[in-house]
Amino acid sequence: KLGNETLKAELGRAAWKVLHTTMARFPDKPTADESEALGQYLHLFARLYPCGECAEHFQKVLKKYPPQTSSRSSAAAWACFVHNIVNERKGKPIFDCANIGDFYDCGCADEEKEAIS
Ligand code: FAD
Repeated sequence: KLGNETLKAELGRAAWKVLHTTMARFPDKPTADESEALGQYLHLFARLYPCGECAEHFQKVLKKYPPQTSSRSSAAAWACFVHNIVNERKGKPIFDCANIGDFYDCGCADEEKEAIS
């Protein structure tokens, strides 16, 4: 069966969006359990990613560069870095990870503020 590059790219954009937004919402000071959960999530994300060729490559990337899960900023920087490895492989522009700050917004109301309103 022929691949469909349009669908593969659409899947990729959606998946990266979820991944980077997850990092942007990860705690600044995670508990050991939260860090462990993120590490497991990322390994399973790589293993179960629906594009087989992508999953195979991304699992190798994770092996070489294990997920950084000790804080929000280290997790976000790690995700930006590994996305750039995929960008490089595809001949795409490298994203400036210094600009990742407010780029990924979940659009969800702040949960603490919501609780008192
Ligand atoms: P995308 O790479 O999808 O990025 C979407 C947007 O994210 C960009 O427009 C930009 O605003 C932002 N962005 C770009 N770089 C970064 C960064 N480093 N950090 C944060 N934000 C950034 N495709 C293949 O053909 N072969 C593969 O092996 C492959 N492996 C993949 C592995 C994974 C885990 C994922 C999620 C996707 C993979 N893809 C692969 C899909 C590929 O990475 C792209 O998603 C797809 O080609 C569409 O590219 P795009 O140019 O629209 O931007």
